[in-house]
Amino acid sequence: MQNNNQIRPSTMPCPRCRKLISISSPQCAHCGLRYPKVFASIPLLEELAHGEVSFVKPIILMCLGLYVVSIAINFGGQEASQSPLAIFSPTLDSLKQLGMGGRIPWSEGQWWTLLTAAFLHGDALHIFFNMWWLRDLGPLVEREYGASRFLLIYTTAGLVGSALSTLAGTFYFVGASGAIFGLFGALLYYGWHRGGTFGSAIFRRTLFWAGLLFLYGLAGRNIDNWGHLGGLLGGFAVAALLTYEERLRQTLGHHLGALLTLVFWVVCFSLMLVNFFSTAPA
Ligand SMILES: [Zn+2]
Repeated sequence: MQNNNQIRPSTMPCPRCRKLISISSPQCAHCGLRYPKVFASIPLLEELAHGEVSFVKPIILMCLGLYVVSIAINFGGQEASQSPLAIFSPTLDSLKQLGMGGRIPWSEGQWWTLLTAAFLHGDALHIFFNMWWLRDLGPLVEREYGASRFLLIYTTAGLVGSALSTLAGTFYFVGASGAIFGLFGALLYYGWHRGGTFGSAIFRRTLFWAGLLFLYGLAGRNIDNWGHLGGLLGGFAVAALLTYEERLRQTLGHHLGALLTLVFWVVCFSLMLVNFFSTAPA
């Protein structure tokens, strides 16, 4: 019984809305996706277009994994500390090996630490609160901007935060907070630009928490305020540049940007691994 559901070779399901469209059509007549054939030819692009991909959980898993590694590679090597949580803090050497950012790594030519630093954390509370915020803000930004734009916003904000902190002369820094402040920036832009009841509510809530956390950072010690500020501004700017789903659904350009970002990640983490194995203690 094969007399129905037989797809004619001249049609294919639209990568985004899954409705049947002509293979030769430059745009889906149902959802407006342009270049559907390009999407259909690259599996990850198709999944991105269909909204099956989320980057939040993979980023959290990478941070947790690197945190465990950073403690494990030099377990018990912590300097004497008054904190009972010191055992959950990686040593400076471990973090340097794994791609800590800052003026010193930068001056040694380790430009890729601008990215890898955003996946490392200095202690248990640091990673707990960053992952808490990422889990809270990430899905909202992915919903309003789409996963590809989320990845572009998150990565760029992390890089801008790292760059500003390096320029400001911070010797060493680690942490996802610059990138997370970028998510605050993206939500500020969204709420402000969208307006209305929902937009205003998002804007006020985001402004409150971002403001509170920023002030908390100013009051604290060993907090990378330049990284926070850079991330916030970077996230806001990229969000304004790329705009959000309600105004413009993600285009092929956004998805290709996300793929290029992933390639950039692979390059940075490959260089981190090379550095790791060339500086590992005997
Ligand atoms: Zn479609």
